[in-house]
Amino acid sequence: MIKFENVSMIYSNGTPALNDVSLQINDGEFVFIVGHSGAGKTTLTRLLICEERVSAGRLEVNGFHLEKIRSWRIPKLRRTMGVVFQDFKLFDKMTVYENVAFAMRVVGAKPKLIKKRVPFFLDIVGLSHKSDSFPTELSGGEKQRVAFARALVNNPDTVIADEPTGNVDIQMSEGIMELLMKINKLGKTVIVVTHDMSLIQAYKKRVVQIENGKIVADTNGADFDIKSMMTSTENGAFDGGEIR
Ligand code: ADP
Repeated sequence: MIKFENVSMIYSNGTPALNDVSLQINDGEFVFIVGHSGAGKTTLTRLLICEERVSAGRLEVNGFHLEKIRSWRIPKLRRTMGVVFQDFKLFDKMTVYENVAFAMRVVGAKPKLIKKRVPFFLDIVGLSHKSDSFPTELSGGEKQRVAFARALVNNPDTVIADEPTGNVDIQMSEGIMELLMKINKLGKTVIVVTHDMSLIQAYKKRVVQIENGKIVADTNGADFDIKSMMTSTENGAFDGGEIR
């Protein structure tokens, strides 16, 4: 479970990024986090993996209390989360297999388990046949699938995808969403940070909208008022929010 209780976050240079955020995401939920550029979406994600600390309030993530977590426990927290970053963060000198296996090696997994799990997750993301390829030999969508396999391989409770359809065409974004649904069906909590309105429209899931560091809407997808979001100029143009 993820629970923000009156969380505020101010960067060390004095920029306020989140202001009194309260939000609960239960195990097994699928949630879109949306908002204009600068709204606080990335900050929220960084708080979840403890790359930043809350300035005020309480934050519980998968049983860890992040407002007071000791630094030696942070790797344990991160093992409960699989994050797919926008730029994938793959190692170009490692094969697809090695990129995924590496994530298990750094947490001290036994070779036998690595040999079993890596092919299993490469199969889930549909990339078994690219096991021996290097990232430079893959398309953007394929690289992303490797990043998904790597995010899943340590069996996290929560998977966070940052703008998963940011750089891909419509067909590919459908494939990615199918994959995210599949991951959700495996029982994982899935959090998708996006400004892609077509996704929110198509998938009718819970939508949490952040603006200026505050939650301004929390609805199920069917009720989400996309028009108000598209026309809002409060914080500049909505970044890339075209409906396809
Ligand atoms: P989003 O991901 O929704 O675009 P961010 O969480 O990146 O928004 O940013 C929220 C606010 O925090 C913005 O005002 C942004 O300029 C500021 N901000 C983001 N990262 C930093 C940082 N490392 N140092 C200072 N301010 C930051």
